[in-house]
Amino acid sequence: MADTPSIIGVAVPVPLRQTFDFVLPKGFTLGADADLVGARVKVPFGNRRLIGIITELKDHSDYPKESLKEAIEVLDNESVFEPSLWITLKWLASYYLAPIGEVLDAAMPAKIRQGEEQNPPPIRSWRLSEKGRSSPIEDLARAPLQLAIVRRFMKNTILSPADFKDESKSWRQAITALVEKGWVVENSEPPRLSIGEGLVNEGLPMTQVLELNLEQKSAVESMLQRLDDNNFSCTLLHGVTGSGKTEVYFSTMQTVLDQNKQVLFLVPEIGLTPQLIKRIQDRFSVPLVTLHSGMNDKQRHLAWWHAKQGEASIVLGTRSAVFTSFKDLGLIVVDEEHDVSFKQQDKVRYQARDVAIYRAKQAGVPIILGSATPSLESFVNADSGRYHSLRLVKRATNVALPTVELFDMKVLPSNDGLSPAMVAAVKSTLENSKQVILFLNRRGFAPVMYCKECSATTDCHRCDSHLTYHQRINRLRCHHCGYESVAKNHCLSCNAKDSLVGVGEGTQRVEESLKQIFPAARVLRIDRDSTRRKGELEELLEQARRGDADILLGTQLLTKGHDFPEVDMVGILGADQGLYSSDFRAAESLFQQILQVAGRAGRRSTVGRVFIQTVFPEHPFYERVINHDFDGFAQELMHERHRASYPPFAFFALIRAESPHQAKALQFLRLAKSQLQGRDARDGVTVMDAVPAPMEQRAGKYRAQLLISAKQRSPLNACLSSWLSQIKDNEAVRKLSSSVRWSVDVDPVDLF
Ligand code: ADP
Ligand code: ZN
Repeated sequence: MADTPSIIGVAVPVPLRQTFDFVLPKGFTLGADADLVGARVKVPFGNRRLIGIITELKDHSDYPKESLKEAIEVLDNESVFEPSLWITLKWLASYYLAPIGEVLDAAMPAKIRQGEEQNPPPIRSWRLSEKGRSSPIEDLARAPLQLAIVRRFMKNTILSPADFKDESKSWRQAITALVEKGWVVENSEPPRLSIGEGLVNEGLPMTQVLELNLEQKSAVESMLQRLDDNNFSCTLLHGVTGSGKTEVYFSTMQTVLDQNKQVLFLVPEIGLTPQLIKRIQDRFSVPLVTLHSGMNDKQRHLAWWHAKQGEASIVLGTRSAVFTSFKDLGLIVVDEEHDVSFKQQDKVRYQARDVAIYRAKQAGVPIILGSATPSLESFVNADSGRYHSLRLVKRATNVALPTVELFDMKVLPSNDGLSPAMVAAVKSTLENSKQVILFLNRRGFAPVMYCKECSATTDCHRCDSHLTYHQRINRLRCHHCGYESVAKNHCLSCNAKDSLVGVGEGTQRVEESLKQIFPAARVLRIDRDSTRRKGELEELLEQARRGDADILLGTQLLTKGHDFPEVDMVGILGADQGLYSSDFRAAESLFQQILQVAGRAGRRSTVGRVFIQTVFPEHPFYERVINHDFDGFAQELMHERHRASYPPFAFFALIRAESPHQAKALQFLRLAKSQLQGRDARDGVTVMDAVPAPMEQRAGKYRAQLLISAKQRSPLNACLSSWLSQIKDNEAVRKLSSSVRWSVDVDPVDLF
């Protein structure tokens, strides 16, 4: 076929913001209905062979055709990515200024990335044929392994590879030989979502569907209209903690599932609990797959495949599940949309919630963002009418929101982080046989050790940070780079003996203290140190839910969307840091955290009580907290951000650089600034000064950053992308690049 384009543009998984041209392999013919865009192709790249994605079929290249290398093998005859996903990924690469090859690579499960077939390996099984059953077994006397296998068939009529997992590898040859002889019949079929795997609960009794209250009903009706529109729409479901948002998602999902369409349900990393999976399985008799970091490559491949084939009706997953291909997507739900874990913080830096919104638009389906404490971005969009806004202002269980009381730590004494008033509150709650949550966003025993003689502190030598004392293991640990050392009983600066004291409190110190004050209480500490093993967090949370603990003490791991029926009181120990932080989002996330953790109290029967220890009881922030006044807080924050030209009223991109040499990171960013300034300055793009990062040294590297802000997204994007496309030819940049690692973060969540 002379007019078939024979040149392909290929995105390869390398950190370069471009595609590369190759010629199709000699003799390669295109099937009539094949569409190679989005298909995988193996290509020579330098002295390696890489698997890339075909992004384009071309008639000619900017390079002479003779100079183009030949691709080694085309691996698919259709795209790996469903159309709405394909468009989304191309947009993602350009919006987040990420190398297209890396984006596409990140969007594939490992097995697909490594070149395995899209169809997962078939499930094989074997049984004896008529011949096998009637032939005399002595015929196999000289093939002991085959004989042993035939003997096994006497016990089990069907054998599968799992039956041989303890055998030597040669059983496969033996089986093959038996099949060739006609003794054994092989059966192979594609893997299915089956009941045995616990993914489908057909036939099990459904839990009773709750009767929706008026608020929920009207929210669902509104969502059903959105579904009827058969088009993209974005809805913010803003409902106080315990208002029954989940029931609103579920009732909406039911309609989508009844139409045989698929649902993508995104949750924050910590939100994917067995409890939620069970809640969904109890409610819907449809196949469900989950996608999360705890799965192995084979499981991910299967889940990806079932979704792409349309067999999985619900895909429940964290951040990267937004890259799932669907056969017939009907709805996207993003629960706890404010959660920062939707933002990928390394390599391809994207915000999964925002990607999900773009995806929904491309797929032409509704998306619901739900939260009790929406991100300011979503709040503003709902406020301005860009998103539909649905409110649930009452708790579904008709229990009022908890009362909030402040303890003034300027006047109250503190014993290991606990005021007498807090201790009394805990005591009375325990006496009523209810559970207590104590929230302290600092793990370890003491955030820093301090020498009484010379005032030296224990600092990390690789970071601008203190070492936290972990008493139980008697070690000092850096929470930023992971450095650890044994805690000595003398000061390393002045050698004074036994002069070190812990300053401040971490969860471990409060735990010790609680155990002394309440010796009979079961204290459960939930933070990153107590949940290092896989599954440990789930275990602890489940224990807490069952009521096998009296006091739950933890960091923000405790605050997220959990439903602990018996918690009656929440104590917040020292939250003030967030009020005067240099991070412009600190107050927002503090407010979210407090409201979220407060929302754990009194979800069932009695009104919960929340107590907050603070040195700033008169701060207007706390008045808003007392009144659960999220709107008032958000409105005020909106005005502040507007005045300061901060997101969401301006758009930020941050270039981060790090280097073992103090000067070089800054030097690189100064160079970047001078190159950026020439571009599009008139379009309201402001390039700030290159500055050392708030934590300048981390893990032995010096860090610096350059903030670029703009009133509009597109000039910001244009300015950065034109810079990025030119620097690869820039001599000065190239020289520095060998000792400086740098990255671009569009819509950064933190400026560190
Ligand atoms: P949210 O996600 O908004 O915090 P949930 O969906 O977890 O709230 O619901 C909170 C509690 O209220 C759950 O125990 C749920 O079973 C209950 N609930 C939800 N809707 C209703 C309803 N209509 N009637 C009675 N209880 C309800
Ligand atoms: Zn460190």
